[in-house]
Amino acid sequence: MAPIPHCVVFCDFDGTITEEETFVAMLKQFTPALSAKLMPEMYARKLTLREGVRQLLESIPSKCYEDFIPYAEPKKMRSGFPEFLAFLADRNVPFVLVSGGVRIVVETVIGDLAPQMAGIYAVDLDTSGEMLKPITPYEDGNELVAKVKVMGEYPCEQAIAIGDSITDLNMALHAPLVFARDRLALYLDESEKTYVPWHDFHDIRTYLERYWAEDDPD
Ligand SMILES: [Mg+2]
Repeated sequence: MAPIPHCVVFCDFDGTITEEETFVAMLKQFTPALSAKLMPEMYARKLTLREGVRQLLESIPSKCYEDFIPYAEPKKMRSGFPEFLAFLADRNVPFVLVSGGVRIVVETVIGDLAPQMAGIYAVDLDTSGEMLKPITPYEDGNELVAKVKVMGEYPCEQAIAIGDSITDLNMALHAPLVFARDRLALYLDESEKTYVPWHDFHDIRTYLERYWAEDDPD
């Protein structure tokens, strides 16, 4: 096998592993009135994601928690994801999932792929009270899950970031190799940061196959 630098892949969940954004839609479904009020404030950056998402989650009764599973079950993963995980495992490259959404939704969608991941970071929910309470050990700055803080747990020669939106921007700016689609690509254009455009996980696997082959002295 080609000697490749010690890499770790950090990958977003919503709109990246999933085809559609699930977290915003979930908040709109389970806390519609407060979502209608706070989401425009968050988009206008009058309210941080950290504060807004916390308030939204805390407005959902704990008894709704079990409804998150049937909500998540029909959500589809983007093409090529299981094959991509197998490709990384063959090369001993750890895969770390970093989501700003809630763990139960993430784990329901990825199902039995979870054991193939080196880590799964998302918002845990305490359901012991009347309302949900987010548990967020990686909260920092404006973010409820600060992805760069998670990256700090996995020192490596080359971090590889995969994402699709503004919530992946800091992670992307801290990674030497970035795969960006959708709005993340636009933000990186503005930041003059180089990235590889992608559509599905077959694209990323094909790119890395070639990229790592170039490092192979054979
Ligand atoms: Mg996303």
